[in-house]
Amino acid sequence: MKKELEQLILLQNADSEILDFEQALGRIPGQIDAARSGMNGKKKQLDDALARIEDLKTRRRKLEQEAQAEADHMARAKTKLPAVKTNKEYSALLSEIDAIKEKVSGVEDQELEVMEALESAEGGISAFKEAFRQEEGVFKEYEAKKNAEAERVKKELEQTRARRQALVETLDPKWVSSYEKVAKARDGQAVVSLKEGICQGCFQYILPQMVIDIKVGEQVHQCQHCSRFLYWVEESPENALPK
Ligand SMILES: [Zn+2]
Repeated sequence: MKKELEQLILLQNADSEILDFEQALGRIPGQIDAARSGMNGKKKQLDDALARIEDLKTRRRKLEQEAQAEADHMARAKTKLPAVKTNKEYSALLSEIDAIKEKVSGVEDQELEVMEALESAEGGISAFKEAFRQEEGVFKEYEAKKNAEAERVKKELEQTRARRQALVETLDPKWVSSYEKVAKARDGQAVVSLKEGICQGCFQYILPQMVIDIKVGEQVHQCQHCSRFLYWVEESPENALPK
């Protein structure tokens, strides 16, 4: 095979690798973000549980204040008793006292409810903390793995870019410029194989004489339909067998 064509194939391989590395690098931040959402979900559950506890404590304080207010109210009502003169006044005061007792009992029932809810919420908090801690551990491990992968890919990318640059320097600039023109027009795919007379870039038939020329490989040929550089791949029966 002609040396220029071999170099163009190597250039194409380097560019395809560069593209793969760039795409892999580009995907990593999104992969880390997706993993972070699992941890954030557990964090939200924990935060919600903590907020519920705070809410219950606020309700408990309010009920305690209400209970104190009713106790004061009761004390005031009882001080009126010695001053009562008529039966009417007496029964009015008794019904006031009864009403206060009913309120107190209602407040006490609510306090009990809040205390039970608080106890259960506080009991569950350690499970939420543990679930979050575990999820956070899983995330951090994944993040470290992905960051290490990014570093590795960056290094490989740099090496491949250097290899590409060295290759470009050995090639005749006219081949480089026509390679780059085709690559730009064809999504980075400038060199393709020829199989059974068909260009593997545009999948159209190549003129039989050109197929022969490409097989002989003494000159560099471009597809007459898509301008991609073509090279011959020997169809070996061994390659077709499963290994
Ligand atoms: Zn073609």
